[in-house]
This record gives sequence, structure tokens and C-alpha cells, in this order.
Amino acid sequence: MSGPHDFAVRGISAFALAPHASTASRPTFVTIASRPSVRGGTAGINKSVSTKSRSEIFFAEGLDKRGSRGAFDLPDETGQELGFFESWCTILFMTNHAFKIGESREQASLLPARIEDYVGPDNPVRAIESFVCALDLSKLGFRHSDRGVEVGQPPYDPADLLKLYLYGYINQVRSSRRLEREACRNLELIWLLKNLRPGYRTIANFRKENWQALKAANRSFVLLIGELGLVGGTLVAVDGALFHGNASKESIFTRRKLAEQIAKLDKEIEAYGQSLEANDAAEAKQRSGGQGDGKGDGDDIGAKVEKLMAKRSRAKADLDRLEASDEGQFSKTDPDARLLSKGDQTIAGYNVQSVVDDKNNLIVVSEVVNRSDAGHLHAMAKAAKEVLEVETLQALADVGYYSSADLKACEDDGIIAYVPPFEGNGILEKQGRFSRKDFIYDSATDVYRCPAGELLRPTKARFTNTSGRVESRYLSRKAICDSCPLRARCLAPKSNQRIIARWEHEDVLERHRARMQSAGELMRRRSAIVEHPFGTIKCRAGYRHFLVRGFNKVRGEWSLMALCYNFTRVLNILGFDRFVAFMAAKTHASRKAVVAGVLKCIQLALRSFWNPFRSHLAINQLRSAPIG
Ligand code: SF4
Repeated sequence: MSGPHDFAVRGISAFALAPHASTASRPTFVTIASRPSVRGGTAGINKSVSTKSRSEIFFAEGLDKRGSRGAFDLPDETGQELGFFESWCTILFMTNHAFKIGESREQASLLPARIEDYVGPDNPVRAIESFVCALDLSKLGFRHSDRGVEVGQPPYDPADLLKLYLYGYINQVRSSRRLEREACRNLELIWLLKNLRPGYRTIANFRKENWQALKAANRSFVLLIGELGLVGGTLVAVDGALFHGNASKESIFTRRKLAEQIAKLDKEIEAYGQSLEANDAAEAKQRSGGQGDGKGDGDDIGAKVEKLMAKRSRAKADLDRLEASDEGQFSKTDPDARLLSKGDQTIAGYNVQSVVDDKNNLIVVSEVVNRSDAGHLHAMAKAAKEVLEVETLQALADVGYYSSADLKACEDDGIIAYVPPFEGNGILEKQGRFSRKDFIYDSATDVYRCPAGELLRPTKARFTNTSGRVESRYLSRKAICDSCPLRARCLAPKSNQRIIARWEHEDVLERHRARMQSAGELMRRRSAIVEHPFGTIKCRAGYRHFLVRGFNKVRGEWSLMALCYNFTRVLNILGFDRFVAFMAAKTHASRKAVVAGVLKCIQLALRSFWNPFRSHLAINQLRSAPIG
């Protein structure tokens, strides 16, 4: 018998009959080494054969051994007996296993394994590879990306570390130590990193040092989403979600907390002071009576008081620092983490603001802040408008974003905001009194009409309220109110006229209120649009807290998470093949542009070299030409 297949069978058969293999385990060694398919598809290259075919192979091998004695140099009779015994064992044990049995770890491969075969042709890691390869990392600002050949140990390519992080964040592996472990044992990562195994410090430093570049990478993916036509660019929803920081609630101090701590420490110090005095008196009594050694536990108490005093002075210094700043709280662990509340939830961490496009629930803009949602509507919607490159944009938000200043700024920038109006605490309604909405404004005559049909006219002077809004005040006439039958429902007990304040841009709020009358359907869509990414990130990816500290690093980490969400979503929407083909075309186009640029440079260099030479030749020719 000849040919590669036979050669493989002979080799395998010889291995199965080797003396080190036990009878029970021999059948499991019987494999046929086959070449992997063109695109791999499985990590291994050895395929187990069926029970029947294995038996046949053994019989065939027995015959072959008897015939040629090429595989083993056994005497004929011994060989016959052994061959029969082996075949019998093969049939017996291969058909009577209680469970499926894996391959032996001692199994040698006849062909060397290729890293390329570790992942299938449509494995998502290939999409990560295609995306990162299409990025211009030096343009995005990744450290070492434009490094040339230099002396010393070369660093890891930022492209490889970015691939590692993308893979990790998509697959819920975020810590640098876990990423280090996975890079050594995970076949997909071994494929992605070409068997590079960076240490956890290198991995952690990459995330810390490249926070700006990670933000830029996230932005570039949003632009890519736009190129792919996956964003509508007409309707977005804005919302915030709280994420735990790398700090505990106890590590964050507010003024009230510090004041309470100081008061508590004062009480403790006072109590210890009293016991110190009592101790001194007892010691003095003992000394005068000649009893004992005159030493009480005053030393212990003194040390404790000293400790408490030191603690108090630290708390006082913190309180003074807080009062000197315009901050309401500070953290000793993460300087930018804050105690934040939403509904019945209070966390020590950050508020992640996101703007989500309604077409495919993709995050177009996101930012990490450490305040509540209020005051972020305009900034977020404007950033989304710029990214989407549209003239007008409809932005949906919940009542937490209601801010007259934001609504005005949105209107000025061509953003049509839909935010449920904040109705206040409804105290007047609860008291059965007329609220502001019972007074109708007449823009033609610039007056308010009260429920009794009387007019409230503006004062000449304008006022600036506590929040900085410039307002006009509209007053009812005292004489009319005195005799009004609705007075009890309109005025406060000690008041004799009604005052309505009107913001100088109140017309913006009136248009907004009118818009909100018919925005029921849009507001129902709001939660469906914006809750999708947060729900997916928190529940599917299990991402509820940051691993790093400080705004910059936290923003970098969030960018990674947002990028991974968008990446997974785009892959689901487009499909693997279309995405990879698109990225390949992009890579090809950018390489073509680079080559064209290099060729142009060479052309210019050659021209600058050739021009003086040509002039020199021409002059020489002129000189050598006969005159006349
Ligand atoms: S009390 Fe004065 S402002 Fe109020 S409803 Fe009567 S007339 Fe109008």
C-alpha cells in the first residue's frame, strides 16, 4: 500500500499497538489524520473515525502487518494472535463505552496545527480583526502607533491590544489579569493576537494611557455606522444611566456627612475627657491613701482621645476644603465619583449620558458625567446633531431633562426637543387653588387672563430670579381681587393680589407645551429606543461598574463599552459577511490612498532631482553648440 492516506493509517495503527497503550484505551487512540478544510472550521486536525470503520482499519492493518510485516517486526504466529486480540478488543471496547471518550492527551498530530484553523471562517473575531485593521491608529492617537524601528525591546502593537480589549469587552472579560489569562488559553484570542501573550500590566496600562484614543475609536465607529446607513438621523432619545465607580459609598463625603462625623467625634472626645478626669481623680485618691501604684488606665484613654482628635482635625480640614470649593461632595478613593440617586437607587459612581438613534438603537453620542440628568439635554443633542451631520433633529428625553434654558438652546440650534414639562410639586392643586396654567396668556395684548376673566398686566421693570432667568411680572388689581368670588381659590391667605412671572423666552416653553400635546406616541417610543443599549450593556454584558478611576480613564472605559455595544449590534444587523466585506473594502481603499501618496512623493523627489540635472545638460549643450 502506498500514498499519504495509507501512510497515515500505518502510523496511527503502529501508535495504537504500541506497548505503552493500555488495552482499554487503545481504541481511543485510533484516529485518521486528515488535512483540514481550506478555511479550517475546527481547531483540531484529527478526525475520529466511526466505530465500524475503525474496526475495518484494524482488520486491514492486521492483514497488512501479516502480509508485509512492515509496521512491526513480530513473528507471524505472534503477530496473528496479537492482531486478532487487538481487533477483538477494538470491537468490544469501542462499542461498549458508557460515555463518549475524548482524545488522549498523548496523541501526536501528524500534521502541524495552523493558528489560522483555530477559528471558523465566520467567527466574530475575524470581524474584530477586520475592523481594527481598517483603523488609522496613529490618527486616532494610540500610543506607539507611529513608532519606527528603534533600539531596545519593541512594545506591543496598539492594534493587538485594542483587539484584545474589544474581544474582552464583547465577551465580558474586562480585568487585565483575566485578559492576560485568556490570551494564553483562549483559541480565539490566540488567533486574534497571533499567539502574543501580553502581561496584565501592559494590558492595564494600555487602557489607562489611551483613554483619548479609545474615545476617538468609538467616534470613528459611529462615523462608520453613518457610512453604512444604519442611523436614521431624524429622531434620537437621550437618557442617563448610573454606573458604579471604583469607590464605595463610605469613601464619599458630603458636607452634612462631615458635619455629622465631627459632631459625633466631639461627643466621643467629651465622653473620653470626662472619663480621663474621673481617672485622674481616682489616681489622686489612691496616691493620697497610699493604695496601689497610683497608675490607672489614663494612658489608654489619653491615646484614644489623641486618635479621636486627629480624626476630628482631618474631618474638619475636609469640611473646610469642601466649603471653599463649589462641590457638594468629594471622594477619597476616586476623585470624580459622586453619590448619585435615581428613583430609589443611590450609587457611588457616574452618570452615563447617551444619545441613541431610533433606526437601529445605536449609540451615536455618549458622555460620562457625575451629576444628575438635568442640564445635559442641549449638549448631548447638539453633539448628536453634529455627528449625524443633519440640519434638524428631534430629541426625546424624560422629565429629568426638563430645563427652560436647555429648551431655548435646543430651539436655537434646530433641535426639536420633546420633554415632559415639569409640573412642580403641585402644591397649589393640592390646596385646591388655581395654578399657573389656569391663567391664559394673550400675546396680542401682552396680558394674562385669570379664571375670573380679569386681566393681569405687566410691570415695567424686569426681574432676575434666583436661577438667573430674566422675568416680567403680571399683576392683578387689588380692588378687583378683593371682591372676587374666586379669591379663596386664587390668593394665598395673606396676599391681596395675584402675581404671575413670565420668562423673557416664555414663548419657547409655550411652543414646547403645545408640541407635547400631540407627542404621546413619540414619548412611548422614547423608552424603547434608549433603554435598549442600557438594558443590553447592563444585563447581557453584565456591565454595571467601572474598573478604573477618574474622569479620563472612566470615559475611556465607557468608550470601549459603547464601541463594543455598537460593534455587536452592527454585526447582528449587517451580518458577518457584509461587515467584513465593507471593512476589507475600506482597508483596501486606505492602503491604495497610502500607496498613491507614496508614489506621488517619489515622483516629486525624482522631479526635483531631475530638473537641475536637465537644466545643466541644456546649458552644456548650448555651450558646446557652434556660434553663428
Ligand atoms: S382673585 Fe383676582 S386674580 Fe384671582 S381670579 Fe379673582 S380676580 Fe382673578
